[in-house]
Amino acid sequence: MAAPDVIALTQALLRLDSINPPGRERECAHHVGALLEAAGCAVRYLEFDTARTCVVARIGGRSDALPLCLSGHLDTVPLGTLPWTHDPLAGEIDGERLYGRGSSDMKAGVAAIVAVVLELAPRLHATAGLEIVLTAGEEQGCMGSAFLARTPDALGRAGAIVIAEPTANRPYVGHKGIFKFHAVTRGVAAHASRPELGDNAIHKAADAVGRLRRYGFCCRPHPVMGLPTLNIGTIEGGQNINSVPDRCTLGVDIRTVPGLDHEALRADLARTLGPEVELRLVNDMPPVWTEPDLAWVQRVFALSARVLGEHPPVQTLTAYTDAGSLRRGYAGAAGAPPTVVLGPGEPELAHVVDEYCLRWRVEQGVEILRDIVCDWCGL
Ligand SMILES: [Zn+2]
Repeated sequence: MAAPDVIALTQALLRLDSINPPGRERECAHHVGALLEAAGCAVRYLEFDTARTCVVARIGGRSDALPLCLSGHLDTVPLGTLPWTHDPLAGEIDGERLYGRGSSDMKAGVAAIVAVVLELAPRLHATAGLEIVLTAGEEQGCMGSAFLARTPDALGRAGAIVIAEPTANRPYVGHKGIFKFHAVTRGVAAHASRPELGDNAIHKAADAVGRLRRYGFCCRPHPVMGLPTLNIGTIEGGQNINSVPDRCTLGVDIRTVPGLDHEALRADLARTLGPEVELRLVNDMPPVWTEPDLAWVQRVFALSARVLGEHPPVQTLTAYTDAGSLRRGYAGAAGAPPTVVLGPGEPELAHVVDEYCLRWRVEQGVEILRDIVCDWCGL
């Protein structure tokens, strides 16, 4: 099979609208799935809702060696409210820049994975092989990967995972966990002219805000990720200005680091906020961390350095990825497989207006991913 043009493939994916919400990743999924199938992969489509399609493709494989998992997401975030100077759904090229929603985050990464698989497919038989996992619904809480992780037999086996999220082709060894919750306070409604007859839920929420702003995490800083963070992102309460509010809800987003147990965190927050505040968990995902001294991770760094022309530092992302659920889905007796996040998109262009990726960087990403696959499969 002729080497596929990774730029043309990225353009084709950009032209298939998979903005989430609503998602509708099915067309993207079938586009890449058909290519993988034609190259000899065994392809399965798994939908967690109508047209919310994930692809799991396998090629090669031996009973005595675990495959390498290559993963990316097919959905994109919305366009934003400001106008674009380039059509976000046309795959327009201007010099080295390829514009479009999802170009960096992360249709270029998906295209790079597919290009590498198509190129190496004829040589992968009787090697450790690959499991390619392309997900729907990543941008709204990793819904597709969570669905795959909990669906029996959706995922096979994997000895290591590469997530091709935008990192400008630098390897990242993890990211923080997520602990998102609503803090709900309740009171008693009354006329605003007689506040002494009511019980003000916003006053209680204000007190909770103060406690959260002073909150100290009971863990040591992680050597690479540092300390957890806390952000109060939303506040909703009261029906009108002339009533005492009987309910108020804060939306709180905590990003955790290894060493901070989420159950212990929940108990400590409940103690700190007291009985007037009800905690309702919205999203609970553990941090992702792979020891950089592992032999495979060292090889990934060395292979990347050879192509990048410099030794990338050991670092972690701030944003969450599908790695959390995939590691849970693949975890065996030996624990979760080592995971590296590495992809050709521009990290600072994720989610922005006029998002683009750089053509030379996408081609460089193909080179690095190819080297990682060849190393894993002994090619
Ligand atoms: Zn992404």
